[in-house]
Amino acid sequence: MTEKLKVATTSLAGCFGCHMSLLDIDTRIMDLVQLVEFDRSPLTDIKTVGKCDIGIIEGGAANTENIEVLQMFRDNCKILVSLGACALNGGVPAMRNQFDLNACLDESFVNGAGVVNPGVPDDPELPSLLDKVQPLHEVVKIDYYIPGCPPSAEVIYDFLTRILEGKPVDIPYAQIRYD
Ligand code: SF4
Repeated sequence: MTEKLKVATTSLAGCFGCHMSLLDIDTRIMDLVQLVEFDRSPLTDIKTVGKCDIGIIEGGAANTENIEVLQMFRDNCKILVSLGACALNGGVPAMRNQFDLNACLDESFVNGAGVVNPGVPDDPELPSLLDKVQPLHEVVKIDYYIPGCPPSAEVIYDFLTRILEGKPVDIPYAQIRYD
């Protein structure tokens, strides 16, 4: 039996919808786990990413912890995949880029409607927000992009099986969507 490929996944400034779409492959996940072993992922209890063949990331980079995790994935994964609109171009969270960061914090934690105990959280354990939400390719090199919000289960499954079989990735036009 050939050795299983190691796959890590993570969600940065994402909504977990791309992971849910991955799970939408339904019973085919049983075929997938015959071929791959999951490393760090929201689906496992592994805390740090080890050496992997494929890293799949949903969500853009919105805070300093996102940058650290993204760099860790790049350093450890032979192939890094940007999954979903947020990873590709910042997605809906990047709508905050049109506002000043301090104005966003003020609206959320100080003077916004319904705020009680006003004050911007400043515990050093909390990661700092970046001035702008960034797509992943602005931070590290990305090998493949899978668009969609979220990408369909079909396109994720086809992509993974092609990579696993060593075939060129050739996603049919009909499977490509950006919404
Ligand atoms: S691309 Fe869409 S589904 Fe995926 S993390 Fe972003 S908002 Fe969620």
